[in-house]
Amino acid sequence: MITLLSIMIQNINTTPRASRPDLLAILEDQGYRPTNQRRDVVSLLERKGEGFTVEEVSGELPEVGRATVYRTIKLLLKAGVLCKLALPDGAPKYIMARAEHHHHTVCVKCGTVGEFRDTTVERVLRAVGAEIPGEIVGHRMELYLVCLDCQDRPEG
Ligand SMILES: [Zn+2]
Ligand SMILES: [Zn+2]
Ligand SMILES: [Zn+2]
Repeated sequence: MITLLSIMIQNINTTPRASRPDLLAILEDQGYRPTNQRRDVVSLLERKGEGFTVEEVSGELPEVGRATVYRTIKLLLKAGVLCKLALPDGAPKYIMARAEHHHHTVCVKCGTVGEFRDTTVERVLRAVGAEIPGEIVGHRMELYLVCLDCQDRPEG
């Protein structure tokens, strides 16, 4: 199962993104002027292939206040262009979102984030949702794994 999943994840990751969202335009749409500090944050996020924490972004942009980094990430999250990942330990991680509904895998050793879609998972969740009183309006799922690279890497 893990192997199958890894293949799916690699397939998704090698597909080029159709078009990257214009993050500054998204901020402007929400009434936030593209100040130099926001520009710095946005251009760093656009260069980040891997997931990132607020701390990491802050650390790489000492000239930008941590509050600005945090608020910018929060706005982009609200706009749906970032995904927020709950990690088994440590601070939440953020990563650029794909357009379609998807879920994440997170390597517990190196923190590499993958994405996957699975119709069986969606079907099961719909069935479960139908049994639960109330209207289900969304769900999130993260699978924690040891990635292939980390499996190959000797301990120590
Ligand atoms: Zn995502
Ligand atoms: Zn790993
Ligand atoms: Zn789902």
